[in-house]
Amino acid sequence: MADIIERSGAQIARDVTSGAVSAREVTEAHLAQVDAVDDRVGAYLTRLHDLARTTADRVDARVKAGEKLPLAGVPIAVKDNMCLTGTRTTCGSKILEHWVSPYTSTAVARLLEAGAVPIGKTNMDEFAMGSSCENSALGVTRNPFDLSRVPGGSTGGSAAAVGAREAAIGFGSDTGGSIREPGAFCNVVGFKPTYGRVSRYGLIAFASSLDQIGPLSRTVEDSALAYDVMAGFDTMDSTSIDRPVEPTAGDLRTDLTGLKIGLVREFDTKGLGAEIDDLYDRAYHDLQALGAELVDVSLPTADYGLATYYLIAPAECSSNLARFDGVRYGLRVDGADVREMYDNTRAAGFGPEVKRRILIGTYALSSGYYDAYYVRAQKARTLIARDFQKAFAQCDLIVCPAASSPAFRFNAKTDPYSMYLMDYYTIPMSLAGLPALSVPCGWVKPDGGEFPMPMGLQFCAPLFQEKLLLGAAHAYETLTRHETTHRPNLGEVTARG
Ligand code: GLN
Repeated sequence: MADIIERSGAQIARDVTSGAVSAREVTEAHLAQVDAVDDRVGAYLTRLHDLARTTADRVDARVKAGEKLPLAGVPIAVKDNMCLTGTRTTCGSKILEHWVSPYTSTAVARLLEAGAVPIGKTNMDEFAMGSSCENSALGVTRNPFDLSRVPGGSTGGSAAAVGAREAAIGFGSDTGGSIREPGAFCNVVGFKPTYGRVSRYGLIAFASSLDQIGPLSRTVEDSALAYDVMAGFDTMDSTSIDRPVEPTAGDLRTDLTGLKIGLVREFDTKGLGAEIDDLYDRAYHDLQALGAELVDVSLPTADYGLATYYLIAPAECSSNLARFDGVRYGLRVDGADVREMYDNTRAAGFGPEVKRRILIGTYALSSGYYDAYYVRAQKARTLIARDFQKAFAQCDLIVCPAASSPAFRFNAKTDPYSMYLMDYYTIPMSLAGLPALSVPCGWVKPDGGEFPMPMGLQFCAPLFQEKLLLGAAHAYETLTRHETTHRPNLGEVTARG
């Protein structure tokens, strides 16, 4: 049975479909892994053993009845900001700690319909604000490759679950990098589709113009498979895009012949240190070896990405999180009158980072400062998107690092700004709505650590070019197989830095 947890999602789906193994057996193998390692890894906030077993049995019955299910028996880990009927959906926050979803998000519903089996709901930075998972108010998640390090964030739980073989495919939301960065930290593929491709219905909103659901998986093929199932128009989400989805998983390319790949001048890796600089150099050479022509492109306004994002995302979150007032959802802390009840509830329910963002956002949207901050940020956003358009006139895809460092130790980044910098390479794509993914691209030995840690190569494509994006990443993965070099280290917890 042990080998079952080593199989990719695509392999599991094939095996369950052919009858080589049952969905129930696959589920039991993963539940056993959760029981064995999750007290140390902490990927899950809620374990769904009973639901997983009943779902698996139903999948087995459907397969026996002749249904063709693209994700037959594939165990999935679901970020705790995606609704699933009857399960706790906390957003990693005290304010929703005991809140139970009354309905299922469109993305999860499509996965279940395709035969996936939910193993549990995973930890995250509170309301998806953060890059290490340390902002969760409800638990600590550790990096499966070095338990003294963070898994990345905000989708740290799903990334760690897949890295630790506690699920075959994880799901999360990416607002400014929250799928790609934890993917890179945990040696898994992290894929953010084009904004509007996957319905946000039932995803608890952080910044609605940026949030996008996507998969984290051990292979590009698995991400493609999950994308094919989830993507597509949904009348329940007014920003969902009504445009046919080209299936991707069936024929992923294996070379890059004829493709021009842009290296962004402003994203030079020299400043990241010799070891990391060499690693990306090698990755770019591998792209050439696969037949790509490397071209120099420029994104002159990308440097404004962080400043732009940290006005737009807080502005949107200050509005979205206004609904958590002690009246309709989750926590209520009583007060002398309703006003005091609001104050007490929000003071007790939100953590420091969430409060900081609400304050910044409220300030940026206030009448005296709206033009100076929010409107300006929107203009900068347009310029960043235009830079990408110009770059894509010269190349088919862009590549760059997914994060500027490998996973760091707990409490290593105490001032918010150093944490915000983690998303330097991922935020511009989010502001432009572009599809992008991170794929394992090698290992480094950071700051005297005991274990080698993975790094991620980010690919970015023009809007709606998911097939090209996934195909190129698949070609790179097939040549390099960096994700297989080292195994997770799930032994005793080492020092908590
Ligand atoms: N780290 C970024 C933030 O804190 C991105 C988070 C995300 O993508 N959800 O906002």
